[in-house]
Amino acid sequence: MRTIRLGKTGIEVPQNAFGALPIQRVSVDEAVSLLRRAYDGGMRFFDTARAYTDSEIKVGKAFAGMRDKVFISSKTQATTRAKFEEDLDTTLKNLQTDYVDIYQLHCAAKCYTEEDEIYQALADAKKQGKVRHIGITAHKIGVAEDIVESGLYETLQFPFCYLATDRDIALVRSCAEHDMGFIAMKGLSGGLLTNSVACMAFMSQYDALPIWGVQRQSELDEWLSFFDKEVAMTDEIADFIAKDREELLGEFCRGCGYCMPCTVEIQINQCARMSQMIRRSPSENFLSEFWQQEMFKIDSCVGCGICKTRCPYELDIPTLLAKNLEDYKNILSGSVKI
Ligand code: SF4
Ligand code: SF4
Repeated sequence: MRTIRLGKTGIEVPQNAFGALPIQRVSVDEAVSLLRRAYDGGMRFFDTARAYTDSEIKVGKAFAGMRDKVFISSKTQATTRAKFEEDLDTTLKNLQTDYVDIYQLHCAAKCYTEEDEIYQALADAKKQGKVRHIGITAHKIGVAEDIVESGLYETLQFPFCYLATDRDIALVRSCAEHDMGFIAMKGLSGGLLTNSVACMAFMSQYDALPIWGVQRQSELDEWLSFFDKEVAMTDEIADFIAKDREELLGEFCRGCGYCMPCTVEIQINQCARMSQMIRRSPSENFLSEFWQQEMFKIDSCVGCGICKTRCPYELDIPTLLAKNLEDYKNILSGSVKI
């Protein structure tokens, strides 16, 4: 297992880290057990966020009494000093600690600079020792490039997986050149990629720290298994990735959910990628009564466009939903076989 140094933070951890978004969906006991097992298995870096409901509380509970053994990053969506300070206090309380290793501005709409109140608040928190390092997360490549060029942040968190474009890969390299840590989110592209060996082999080629979202024991065991068996890119894996890229590249929904809530309660983050999900997971799950009802809600889209203004990938969501519904209806009627 490679060790990744997160740029000028000096943090060095195995290239196999824990994304604590999905533990929102399991009980406190299950989450604590997953987190402790991840630690016992070799993981040392855990990424959470204020926005992930009780995730911080679960992380805090798991690592109480062993704070110095792990690195914890969290995030705030605040854009004002007052909200930032409130969020940071909550984060520290939830994590049962007096410092966060990396505190990140969450899903930044732009590169905040010294001119911005929120950057000043972040810098002050670092001076006070509540935050050891300053980070930021972004979903738009242009924003991410501005962040790297600014030199104002110690880490960047950005979606990165084997569907990455040349521009995404250049971004990762640019981070290394600027001695900036690169934290890779969505290494499975929101659940679309299912071959963990291919995902890990791809990641092993870059100075990137993947935070794999973990909700189940079986998922965790898969990631932990890489501590025992080193994975590197091979011709066979490269061929697999090339085929998968061909199938998936283009305009597709990553399932991030930033576009929601929808005015008429369509579950956009699932329904806008149903065509891929239904072909890549056991299809009966997505043909259930429940999912049929969810998919047919697409017919009630009023075209308000609010979702489009929130999608970091600038997808034409109503059109994408309509395409997915048409395909879904064809699958249901049997005119399209999967
Ligand atoms: S355009 Fe349609 S899908 Fe988007 S928020 Fe409005 S109703 Fe929902
Ligand atoms: S449509 Fe865009 S914002 Fe919504 S879930 Fe998909 S990628 Fe995310």
